Amino acid sequence: MSALASPINLVWHRTDLRLCDNAAMTAAVAASQGLTAGVFVLPADPYEVAVLSRKRGAVGSSGSVSRAALLGAPPEVARSSPRRIGFLLQAIEELRAEWRARGSTLFILRGNAAECVSTLAAELGVREVHTAPCPSFDELNENTSAERILNTRGAKLVVHDETTLFAAEDLPFVIDQLPDVFSNFRRVVEKHCRVRSPLTVPDISEIPREIRTLANEQADAILAASVFVEARQRTATPDPRASFVAHGGRSHGLTRIRKWFWEKDCLARYKETRDGLVGENFSSRLSPWLALGTISPREVAAEIRRYESERVANDSTYWLFFELLWRDFFHLWVRRWQGRAFKATGVLGRTPCGSQDREAFLRWCEGTTGEPFIDASMRELRATGQLSNRARQNVASWLARTQGIDWRWGAAWFESQLIDFDVGPNWGNWQYVAGVGNDPRNRVFNVRDQAERYDADGAYRALWAGK
Ligand SMILES: Cc1cc2nc3c(=O)[nH]c(=O)nc-3n(C[C@H](O)[C@H](O)[C@H](O)COP(=O)(O)OP(=O)(O)OC[C@H]3O[C@@H](n4cnc5c(N)ncnc54)[C@H](O)[C@@H]3O)c2cc1C
Repeated sequence: MSALASPINLVWHRTDLRLCDNAAMTAAVAASQGLTAGVFVLPADPYEVAVLSRKRGAVGSSGSVSRAALLGAPPEVARSSPRRIGFLLQAIEELRAEWRARGSTLFILRGNAAECVSTLAAELGVREVHTAPCPSFDELNENTSAERILNTRGAKLVVHDETTLFAAEDLPFVIDQLPDVFSNFRRVVEKHCRVRSPLTVPDISEIPREIRTLANEQADAILAASVFVEARQRTATPDPRASFVAHGGRSHGLTRIRKWFWEKDCLARYKETRDGLVGENFSSRLSPWLALGTISPREVAAEIRRYESERVANDSTYWLFFELLWRDFFHLWVRRWQGRAFKATGVLGRTPCGSQDREAFLRWCEGTTGEPFIDASMRELRATGQLSNRARQNVASWLARTQGIDWRWGAAWFESQLIDFDVGPNWGNWQYVAGVGNDPRNRVFNVRDQAERYDADGAYRALWAGK
């Protein structure tokens, strides 16, 4: 396609699958008098195996250091499960409908992200591509390659802060000086930082019909690939034991907020219920939408403030905000530590338990360890792609501390299975639990005590492990 008389800008969506409260979107639209379209790149092989090399920092095929290359040599663990891809597709399809409703379009491409985006930008004569900050070095490498290719074609990549409550420029420290310990981080940001109000959706102009037609045809062809059809089917048939089924689209995230905050008033009791294991409402369940950015943490924070002013402000309402601070902490943590977030020795440089017992690891993945609380949790994860925070802590502690198995294998399995997978929160929490992160308490969970305390009537174990 030839370059347009009046060039459009592109928003390169990654974990910001929304138009609202999207700094990249707002800036792209402002710099193009509204002539803006979106682009999302699906992986060529969505089930790429996360095993590359035993060598730390091995060089991947693209010539860059890849996160997977740091994993050592775990058994084959796909980077994504079909369920996680299915959830992502739901989110993308709703985002696409939002772009189209405004007279623009979302390009859905497949392959090497940097190359796909740069080629599209060249075809459309785009001057600016706006995107989110890079959580980790896989994405950082993507940005670096995209920037290089775009620059050779007279276009530029502009990166915006939008995945966290606090913008990097609002923090009273540079990311390299992020406090090691969460409570120090919390004290500093609560004292010095203000959460900005969410941005509204900017006015987008209609883009030429030929571009919309091209984008639609390409997207339809890509989404019709059997690998994506199968992923959608897998997501469409939830396990009957699942107490909560999340749909990836933004509207479903907003519905969850409406029901959980306002209709059922669960927020007012959250601090007492948040360690639950069975049922729909013990916690907010917002993580899958936050992880893909279909809703933003600032939107959730604004809703907490509104609830506090219209209904009640108590320890529970504060506690949900407190958990969003944890999310911010781990997002910044992975940006600070980069490759060390994925190294066996962690950010503390400690020698971890690092058994690479493949059979024991697979029993853990499949939920056949013989330990009922662990088996129940691992079966729930495998069957639904979801797991409560309490269960995550226990299964992680059991694998890494009790069994002494390489914690990175567990983190890779979570990455594959969780529909709310988020690089910083996942790898950061795993380091904490494995004792190689910055947890000052350095706890090992006693799984049987935990089961007695949090599953006293055995309902959770009975539901998932039949015991
Ligand atoms: C080993 C391990 C791995 C984890 N992997 C992930 C992951 O990949 N993605 C993910 O979003 N969370 C992860 N968590 C954190 C936490 O378990 C989930 O965020 C939470 O269970 C999601 O349920 P919810 O939305 O109902 O949370 P709520 O209790 O309602 O909390 C609200 C939000 O706060 C954030 N949050 C809560 N707890 C944490 C935490 N400990 N760290 C960071 N953010 C938090 C999440 O965005 C969550 O949606 C992990 C925890 C552990 C122990």
